[in-house]
Amino acid sequence: MIIVMSPGATEQQIEAVVKKIKEYGCEANISRGVERTLIGAIGDERQINQELIDSLSGVEQSMHIVKPYKIVTREWHKENTVVDIGGVPVGGKTVQVIAGPCSVETQPQMDAAARAVKVAGCRLMRGGAFKPRSSPYAFQGTGIEGLEMFRRAADEQGLPIVTELMDVRMLDTFLEWNVDAIQIGTRNMQNFDLLKEVGRVNKPVILKRGMSATISEWLMAAEYIAAGGNHNIIFCERGIRTFETAYRNVLDVTAIAVLKKETHLPVIVDPSHAGGKAWMVPALSRAAIAAGADGLLVEMHPTPCEAWCDADQALTPEELIDLMGELGGIAKVIGRDI
Ligand code: PEP
Ligand code: MN
Repeated sequence: MIIVMSPGATEQQIEAVVKKIKEYGCEANISRGVERTLIGAIGDERQINQELIDSLSGVEQSMHIVKPYKIVTREWHKENTVVDIGGVPVGGKTVQVIAGPCSVETQPQMDAAARAVKVAGCRLMRGGAFKPRSSPYAFQGTGIEGLEMFRRAADEQGLPIVTELMDVRMLDTFLEWNVDAIQIGTRNMQNFDLLKEVGRVNKPVILKRGMSATISEWLMAAEYIAAGGNHNIIFCERGIRTFETAYRNVLDVTAIAVLKKETHLPVIVDPSHAGGKAWMVPALSRAAIAAGADGLLVEMHPTPCEAWCDADQALTPEELIDLMGELGGIAKVIGRDI
């Protein structure tokens, strides 16, 4: 940590800072400039309470040098981590597309969706049985019955399943139904108790970015999961909230590049919740893969105009086939496959 003293800071104030640093088990290195004195804290600076240092008189500002997250950072783990979802690798050379409806509705709908996912060449399926809806009066999902329908349809096609966990009390049920990857949704990115619980199980977790979460907050949320022992984490950028109202959210393509630099864990993109319109999905998907995303989470419904949730952003089965073809070309250019 580096502590910048205010111009004119007294010897007593400098000494008080040095004393505090030593209390945290670090050594202090004092550098006296013409106008200001800088104090470097050497040692395990994560122990230092930054707010407390900033409150000492004569301190102008302080900054951490070491990242506050340990397990998820690339600093200590240079190679890309490949997360295995039910035998399908995410984060390797192959770009993985997780496709399926926003929500699990009926058995025929899920059977048709699973067939369409398979025909398009995708290896993983999505579908929400528990839905986080803005209104308590909107369709809330088919619940446990939905998990059952999802599992049956996906098993028929040999597809591992990805579904959202909102309530920690449902974790055991998710394990019983052998959910292959647990999705933590945007609204729960900072539900720390939920993160701690999924950190205790040995299931891949897809961690969506909070609506207005910074990259650092997102990485810290992943660190909560990793700290519990579960390192099978995949980041999912799904668009952030801005002043723009012409589309549902703004796909933060920059986040892909930044995360790939900051973390060794896979990064995927949800173009459906970013744009909010089916016609935007191909363009956003192409951009995501070109920018280095390891995969996509895409909404596709056998009959979008009948979808119970997010009808406007769901691709048709035919559109998913076309998208997979286009993405194959992009993957090839950047030395990957799909
Ligand atoms: C979803 O994937 O169905 C979903 C609700 O997404 P988000 O958490 O990104 O809004
Ligand atoms: Mn949705």
